[in-house]
Amino acid sequence: MSDAHMAERAARAEKIIAAADQFKICEGCDSILAERVTSCPNCHGYRFNPDRDEVIAHARLLASRAQTSVTSSDFD
Ligand SMILES: [Zn+2]
Repeated sequence: MSDAHMAERAARAEKIIAAADQFKICEGCDSILAERVTSCPNCHGYRFNPDRDEVIAHARLLASRAQTSVTSSDFD
């Protein structure tokens, strides 16, 4: 995974954190989706968690996961 890709992930997470009330978490696959989406494009789920604090926590988690996905042993 390139540094540019990791930076892009981090930048995306920052954007989500800055405007967390415009996003929600899919309860089916844990994707972060735009608030206006009515069904998940990934798993077609329709149950979402719109809690702002949880969206922020989740964005941070996804960003750190992206950065360490090359070295999966970090999770062991
Ligand atoms: Zn989903």
